[in-house]
Amino acid sequence: MKAKPRSLLGIEPLDSRQILEILSLAKRMNPARPRTTLRGRRIALLFYENSTRTRTSFEIAAKSLGASTVVIHATTASIEKGESLKDTGKTLQSIVDAIVMRHPSSGAPVLLSKLIDIPIINAGDGMHAHPSQALLDAFTILNHKKNLKGLKIVTIGDIFHSRVARSDAHLFSKLGARVVFCGPDVLLPEVARELAPGVEIVREMDEAIRGADVVMMLRVQQERLSGMQINVDEYIRRYQLTPAKLKLAKRDAIVMHPGPMIRGMEMTDEVADCEQSVVLEQVLNGVKVRMAILATVLGGKR
Ligand code: ASP
Repeated sequence: MKAKPRSLLGIEPLDSRQILEILSLAKRMNPARPRTTLRGRRIALLFYENSTRTRTSFEIAAKSLGASTVVIHATTASIEKGESLKDTGKTLQSIVDAIVMRHPSSGAPVLLSKLIDIPIINAGDGMHAHPSQALLDAFTILNHKKNLKGLKIVTIGDIFHSRVARSDAHLFSKLGARVVFCGPDVLLPEVARELAPGVEIVREMDEAIRGADVVMMLRVQQERLSGMQINVDEYIRRYQLTPAKLKLAKRDAIVMHPGPMIRGMEMTDEVADCEQSVVLEQVLNGVKVRMAILATVLGGKR
């Protein structure tokens, strides 16, 4: 039996039992019914990269557990040197109990966790990992399906730049789902197959989506393209989720998106707002799951 995670840096170190424990705790969480579990604890939200959903929901989650929060928006320039990241971490360590951290560089939270001695929760690092998003995605799927075992979960779009796709792939395959990635060569290199055991790559969207239980759409991350050429018209023609394409999935398939969603690019308005879309449900679930994460990491003895 593995120990309770003290930091949440990625999905890989968690086993399926620990994942299910966090998800079952999240079921009992409700931001409308605040708790005192973390009364007197202080949590820093250290964001070196922009965020709407993740930052807000971690803040609401922390406050709903009785913790106080301090939000720090850093500019990338101030942490370019390892030393200043270390100094920021050491400074925060003396005044807070945990750090929720987003950073544009893959591996920054892992690095910081080696330098300081308070729990770090990775709120997204570069192209590497976004474990709280993967947990809330699984939680949302479980609100609609009995379990993940045997489900066909297809993720379509910019897999290459997506920390969500990586963390989702690890988590979904740990819980027994069939993980299918679909996208153009440039945004979905063959190496993506090695992300998690059994990841399948299917280039044609019709084939990928046929019989899917879950269709996860991803944004093209323009800010990380650095010179990659994407023909937007061609992309929309081949990879946009339209009502006709959605019909190829199972009738009870759900449509997901981690946000921010660019309407008219990854999916049409009709799909974004259709009954099968659970995009806003993902946002609410984000608060519950982040409450469960904070309670798991920080709850119990001081
Ligand atoms: N919000 C997600 C992330 O932070 C997905 C995205 O930005 O497209 O990775």
